[in-house]
Amino acid sequence: MSITRLANLIDGRLVPPLADRWLDVYEPAIGEVFAQCPDADAADVAAAVDAAQRAAPVWAAAPAEQRAGLLHRLANLIHERLDEFAELESRDSGKPVSLARQLDIPRSIANLRHFAAAALTWSSESHPMEGSAINYTLRQPLGVVGCISPWNLPLYLFTWKIAPALAAGNTVVAKPSEITPCTAALLGELAIEAGFPPGVLNIVHGRGPAVGQAIVEHPRIKAVSFTGSTATGTHIAAAAATRFKKVSLEMGGKNPAIVFADAELSDANLDTVVRSGFANQGEICLCGSRLLVQRSIYENFRERYLARVRALRVGDPNDAASDLGALVSKPHFDKVMACMTLARSEGGRVLCGGETVTVPGRCEQGWFVAPTVIEGLPNEAATNQQEIFGPVVTLIPFEDEAEALAIANGTGYGLAASLWTSDLSRAHRLAGQLDFGIVWINCWMLRDLRTPFGGMKHSGLGREGGNEALRFFTEPKNICIRY
Ligand code: NAD
Repeated sequence: MSITRLANLIDGRLVPPLADRWLDVYEPAIGEVFAQCPDADAADVAAAVDAAQRAAPVWAAAPAEQRAGLLHRLANLIHERLDEFAELESRDSGKPVSLARQLDIPRSIANLRHFAAAALTWSSESHPMEGSAINYTLRQPLGVVGCISPWNLPLYLFTWKIAPALAAGNTVVAKPSEITPCTAALLGELAIEAGFPPGVLNIVHGRGPAVGQAIVEHPRIKAVSFTGSTATGTHIAAAAATRFKKVSLEMGGKNPAIVFADAELSDANLDTVVRSGFANQGEICLCGSRLLVQRSIYENFRERYLARVRALRVGDPNDAASDLGALVSKPHFDKVMACMTLARSEGGRVLCGGETVTVPGRCEQGWFVAPTVIEGLPNEAATNQQEIFGPVVTLIPFEDEAEALAIANGTGYGLAASLWTSDLSRAHRLAGQLDFGIVWINCWMLRDLRTPFGGMKHSGLGREGGNEALRFFTEPKNICIRY
């Protein structure tokens, strides 16, 4: 099998890493290397920052129509090659190609289009002072900004950051995850074809402690938008603090899905509850990994739920019938399996799954895990407190609203909660009391790109999405004019 070598995008050109070091990129479904990405370092980042700095004044002064037009052109080019992107995303991450085709790639295109439109329509504030003066706020680009993204929704989260950064008039040094770098590399090629001026978008591939760290520490990078684990976010927050650098941190979660006895549990809704736990092998920061169920319906619900989970098909990501593909890497696979061992040692009863899956044929050596449901663990158990980020859901019964709220909020994380009830008053009451940045009522992962996105507590600092992202990527300056 031929191994593709990816390139960095620096100053409008595809270039190898300066030190000529490379990292293996694995295809999780078969457990084999299929590509190599640059193992770049601070020298590559410095070259990217130099290019971005040179491009910054012209890009900042470019009419919004020009920035929007280029983002649209890039979106069009990705759209033209949607199938290729979906296949590459699946190959790189292990997710079903059908999911990448329906979710990851269309949403990546939507990110680019959304912020292209936002570049044209957003405005800033003015504050008149009763006949004596007027203030207006200029929102100016920051200059060079850094965007660091994770492996679970590779192109989607990469575009989620670079699109608003570019729309707001910044030049960008971006680093995709070294575990899933392929679609970002292809996007880089298309950015050249779309006609982005050299240096406006730079992509540097490599390991977090080398490339990511260099982005965070570089004195000419004014802000860093990061999505990834809370451990890395903590590190970035500390490094940025001493440099007074703006940071937006989107991190881990331990999200509750809360099902009340009065919920309308149609087949479609139940399917959504199942999806909220197992979509993308449970490797979505928004997945509801703690499923809280009111005790009066617990047993009946559990049987209906388990029947659906057992019916999920784990298999070759290329097979349209596969609901779940492979986990992203061998280390992550080992981590998820270790979490199951921990759950058992804590006294958890595994109701289904709890084991690896061997997929016959070409995927025999892949990193597949069965969708797993565990019950019998208190909310304080490590299994219910630590993010697993795999196809593992715990069932937790509760008596009433007060107990549901206490369990749901009883975590150090605060990213997303979902709530299933027919009682409108209860829905609003609880939504206001849940300590999560996002609350879904009778739905899950229904996303409007204009809304604030992000978490509280150890899940995040700041918000992205819509105008929040444009605010993050600009510096507000107040101008006061006396009459
Ligand atoms: P990670 O923190 O290991 O890596 C994320 C990115 O940070 C990668 O590009 C990595 O190379 C880089 N990085 C690593 N060390 C760094 C350092 N010292 N300095 C700068 N950059 C560094 O996370 P991951 O394993 O790739 O992703 C999974 C995590 O992401 C999960 O915790 C998940 O919940 C979280 N996530 C959060 C959201 C959200 O919106 N809140 C969305 C998706 C994923």
